[in-house]
Amino acid sequence: MSITTAPTSSSAATARAVLDAAFPAGLGAFLDGKVVTGSGESITLTAAATGEPFATYADPGADGANAILESSTAGAAVWGALNGFERAAILRNVSRVVEAHAEELAILESATTGKPIRDARVEAAKVAEMFGYYAGWADKLTGQTIPVPGPWHTYTERVPWGVVVAITPWNAPLFTAGWNSAAPLAAGNAVIIKPSEFTPASSVRLAQLAHEAGLPAGVFNVAAGLGQTMGAALTTDRRVGKISFIGSVPTGRRVAVAAAQAGIPALLELGGKSANIVFADADLDRAADGAVSAIFSGAGQSCVAGSRLLVERSVHAQFVEMVAAKAARLRVGDPLSADTEVGPIITAQQFATVNTLIAAGINDGGRRVTGSALPAAVAGSALAGGHWVMPTLLDGVTPANRLETTEVFGPVVGADAFDTEAEAIARANNTNFGLAGAVWTSDISRAHHIAREVKAGTFWINSYKTIHVAVPFGGFGDSGHGRSSGPGVLDEYTQTKAIWVPTRAAGSPFPSLSY
Ligand code: NAD
Repeated sequence: MSITTAPTSSSAATARAVLDAAFPAGLGAFLDGKVVTGSGESITLTAAATGEPFATYADPGADGANAILESSTAGAAVWGALNGFERAAILRNVSRVVEAHAEELAILESATTGKPIRDARVEAAKVAEMFGYYAGWADKLTGQTIPVPGPWHTYTERVPWGVVVAITPWNAPLFTAGWNSAAPLAAGNAVIIKPSEFTPASSVRLAQLAHEAGLPAGVFNVAAGLGQTMGAALTTDRRVGKISFIGSVPTGRRVAVAAAQAGIPALLELGGKSANIVFADADLDRAADGAVSAIFSGAGQSCVAGSRLLVERSVHAQFVEMVAAKAARLRVGDPLSADTEVGPIITAQQFATVNTLIAAGINDGGRRVTGSALPAAVAGSALAGGHWVMPTLLDGVTPANRLETTEVFGPVVGADAFDTEAEAIARANNTNFGLAGAVWTSDISRAHHIAREVKAGTFWINSYKTIHVAVPFGGFGDSGHGRSSGPGVLDEYTQTKAIWVPTRAAGSPFPSLSY
């Protein structure tokens, strides 16, 4: 295992320093254009790379949730009254300001999540791109005129929901804050981001920058706080028009039930257990690079992680060795170091979960090919107390193994061999999830056939993890429903109103219809 040099100052100290620079008066919620500190339960942030606490902030509590909802309701009225051209101009400016602050956002994200800085830089740039993309749609939202029999002029208009709440997870807080705010804002809604309690900082900074770029107060608030307080308050209040939830299946189900009881529609973007299928006729070296990146980037804390590796039997042993060798060369270490490829697990709780599931995978018959204890270079450095899991490959992970269907959300891939195309498809579909998947082959017809047969919202051929804001993204089955990107998402963030006007005042019939 290759380890980057130990950090000269601890990641916890760096995290605190970047937080102090961004929020001199302390971290808190973002309300009405200002960072406000709460008075509820105190929440401690811990640096994933060192395990050291580095900051605390307070949950806004019930009064804080109410203040955020009041502010956002007023913000929605102001923002919804602007025309699309005015909204587009401001969102273009948000894109420019985010781009100008991309490095600062990336450092904040890396220091507070443990995500390698090189990944955080890519994600910060993508957030600027998201605002630019949806700025382009803000002045192109049109209704339709619809011919009907009789003397009618009938047309539709797109109406924003008002307040959209986006509840986001800890694995990509900045990216998901952009992904779930740019489109609803373009459609004329106010947005409240409810970030994970473990990683609120980059969302608050994003809202601050968006406000500086011209978003009126109340249009982009951030309810930094706990799931059971802020999350629960924002999913049961009728001032909320629509919810998008990005997180785990159990919490997503809880949110969907609470929202349904309050009559609020909810989009769900949930977990995955994606299959990466490799045929013997693939470019094996490239496929091995793809398999390594699919599972180990982000330390596997990615909803689309390629956590099941299905390899045609004739190359299975060779391919597993290739992946294991490449995994063992990954640079694991200080997230803020420019060449680090794999960082730590974000929380102590998730660290324990990952280790428990590795043990379960071995207990169920998986054979560890790579991934073991911390190397001495880490153990003897400032990183020793961090939540480190080395990139882990278990082979012989059969359908009976818990790793076949359980999302680990860590750097753990279970490999197995298959004999036929039909078997590969059946194995890929042997899960209730349906978020993503991939096939590696030089047979173009087979590639398209498998892409069609695997139940997943996104499927890659001879690639993995490429996503773009212009392309629809979302899940099948337990991975959720609704799409969170692409042009179609503007339909998710507007309601359609139909308007009828008679073209001849006299003599038009009033139909007898009880509907
Ligand atoms: P989580 O479900 O624990 O938490 C997600 C969010 O829900 C957090 O902001 C949390 O505070 C909030 N929450 C908790 N209880 C709540 C409640 N009662 N009401 C409202 N909100 C509540 O998920 P996580 O551990 O932060 O993230 C990891 C999960 O997210 C994984 O399963 C991963 O696959 C999934 N994920 C999915 C996507 C996607 O687009 N499909 C993207 C990233 C992550």
